Amino acid sequence: MTERLSEVRRNVEMVRSRIQEAASAAGRDPAEIRMMAVTKTQSVQRVNEAIAAGVTLLGENRAQELLEKYDGYHREACDIHFIGHLQSNKVRAVIDKVTMIESVDRLSLAQEIDRCAKAHGLVMPVLVEVNIGREESKSGVLPENLSGLLEELSGLPGLSVQGLMAIPPNVEDSVQKEGYFEQMYRHFIDIKAKKLDNISMTVLSMGMSHDYPLAIRHGSTIVRIGRALFGERM
Ligand SMILES: *Cc1c(COP(=O)(O)O)cnc(C)c1O
Repeated sequence: MTERLSEVRRNVEMVRSRIQEAASAAGRDPAEIRMMAVTKTQSVQRVNEAIAAGVTLLGENRAQELLEKYDGYHREACDIHFIGHLQSNKVRAVIDKVTMIESVDRLSLAQEIDRCAKAHGLVMPVLVEVNIGREESKSGVLPENLSGLLEELSGLPGLSVQGLMAIPPNVEDSVQKEGYFEQMYRHFIDIKAKKLDNISMTVLSMGMSHDYPLAIRHGSTIVRIGRALFGERM
């Protein structure tokens, strides 16, 4: 256990220093970038090791898994973001356990978040997930439907749109990958300039274990890291 503890801690420190390097290389303030620990399939104990090493943001993919692990997390100083595909009938179960839902990609889901948030007397911060690579296998709104969805969300007072999230295609070619990050950054900047009611653009969640330095170069403010912190998933 001590060995594993030091392994997670070492990884947290390594990723943090690579984030700092990437930020500096891009002329950005490292404090603008948050490191999220993506917890799927990891035991509560390993997640708590990451928290002990200074992680303050957890990413959860599945409602059921979150409910099972939630009470065991040492989460007093932690934010928890929901990052997976979310069925509307699961919103009620997670609404009071997460501090942001990053995977809003359709009006019906947003309406359910709006309803549940109001019932809890809160306003839920959300990101809109964009299917930037137009992949059939992935969630997310298609780029051409993004403006329309944002307009609809701006009328829902139970949630507050704070930015965008994306999982670009897992391509080897870094030029192609950069193209996706660059397109996301453009959308982020263009929407910010429109100053829509109830829509702010301060969070751009993109970059995972294999590509976060590149994402940081293109304006990411949250990098979502699983394997680089915890090792390969079982
Ligand atoms: C699993 C997952 C990640 C982390 O992926 P790694 O390659 O393990 O870093 C990030 N974002 C989402 C939405 C995920 O499902």
